[in-house]
Amino acid sequence: MSKSFIGVIGLGVMGSSLSLNIAEKGFPLSVFNRAIPGEAYILKNFMMNLDEGMQVEGFSDFKNFIDSLERPRKILIMIKAGEAIDYVIEELLPLLSENDILIDGGNSHYLDTNRRTTYLNKKGISFVGCGVSGGEEGARKGPSIMPGCSKKAYANIAPILEAIAAKDTRGKSCCTHISEAGSGHFVKMVHNGIEYAEMQLLAEAYTLLKVTKTNAAIAKIFKAWHKTDLSSYLLEITIAILQKEKDGIYVLDTILDKAGNKGTGSWSTKASFDLGTVNTMMSSAVFARYISAFKSKRHELSISVAPNVNQAEAIDISVLEKAYRFARLINHHQGFELMQQASKAYHWDLNLSEIARIWTNGCIIRSEFMEKSITVFKKYESYLEDENSLNLLKSAEAAIKQSISDSLSSRIAFDTFWSAYNYWVSMTTKNLPANLIQAQRDYFGAHTYQKINAPENQFFHTKWY
Ligand code: NDP
Repeated sequence: MSKSFIGVIGLGVMGSSLSLNIAEKGFPLSVFNRAIPGEAYILKNFMMNLDEGMQVEGFSDFKNFIDSLERPRKILIMIKAGEAIDYVIEELLPLLSENDILIDGGNSHYLDTNRRTTYLNKKGISFVGCGVSGGEEGARKGPSIMPGCSKKAYANIAPILEAIAAKDTRGKSCCTHISEAGSGHFVKMVHNGIEYAEMQLLAEAYTLLKVTKTNAAIAKIFKAWHKTDLSSYLLEITIAILQKEKDGIYVLDTILDKAGNKGTGSWSTKASFDLGTVNTMMSSAVFARYISAFKSKRHELSISVAPNVNQAEAIDISVLEKAYRFARLINHHQGFELMQQASKAYHWDLNLSEIARIWTNGCIIRSEFMEKSITVFKKYESYLEDENSLNLLKSAEAAIKQSISDSLSSRIAFDTFWSAYNYWVSMTTKNLPANLIQAQRDYFGAHTYQKINAPENQFFHTKWY
């Protein structure tokens, strides 16, 4: 029997959808799922539901799976991130040959990917840390794909990754070689960080509108926004969510307000601390999820501290729309800044315009705004160098102030909008109170300070006591 072009390990949500996508594109495929007790049915079910003409072989034994692949072997690992990846690598290693390529398509941490790349390269195996976004539907119909690896390894896997990825408006694949090692997983992590803040901004806008409006009315407002430059996949699904009813009740109103997370938002925040870049949007979105988890404590305190909340206030929808536009721009700016800093620190030479392009389809943060970002990063390193972006921020400053004021009147937590506003104010303020911080540091720790009008390389110390 002829050998398969590629193998996929793990037939969970993403692995099975990507496998069907690969097989549909005509690539002969081998799939593997472990047959631990209670799991054997997974492979069987998958094989039974293939479309006619799909060339797929199924395995629950690594040796036969590896033997079924053409060389150099290309193996896409789609399993839970973390230690499981290391276990699978160790199991595969004795069966692999030089120049084989392992692709980790899960949400692995980029530092783990750096480590695995070094480890495997020493053994002559190429490793690809491959970010994949789009969820189950994206994986099946065309995700956005962010592979980080050597150029040589990418040349081997490009035909398949570019074939299964979503296509942009010009028909080009939403997959591009990001850079070396952990770069693909880093970029995917930032994608998810931007996604966290995009979701939180919509949640905050919804809660402000909810004071005076029904779900149907909010959906109508969001629909109007969706017809403008604010159009995005997340806005689109939010409209659908607001409208979904079961047995005459809005499903949204039955969902407990405790948000989960799988870590990529906090990883982005930690990365921005490590790289010395500002990421207040993502961090406030992460913390909003953490606060939501304290449900019983919140409930208890709400009764004793704030029984009369959410007093109805008339809200100007056009003002909130402008504030939302403002905050989204700051969110994207901080996300792209984080990638810019990583690019410099790790010598990745990231092409931000190309990253924006592969995020215009297939992924969760695809939007009209992302489409415009392609052009911004063709010309500039930052949104804040782009006159149109600056004009938008300047003209919407009054609106975001008003929306924050509306949130105060209704006693609504509005952290992510606040973060956008505070960032903008700080970034456009000539004199910040950091002179006092420097004086305090020098007082207790003799950390020294620079002086106004003195050369930058001169440091001073005062005997404060
Ligand atoms: P699922 O939980 O649906 O599937 C996990 C898969 O991993 C299963 O096939 C499971 O096998 C396998 N697995 C777990 N542990 C091991 C192990 N020790 N050895 C071998 N196989 C193992 O996860 P998803 O498909 O949702 O996610 C896969 C990866 O893709 C994750 O890193 C996730 O973060 C990432 N991802 C997920 C997205 C999503 O929307 N779901 C979007 C983008 C990325 P078994 O069936 O035998 O338990």
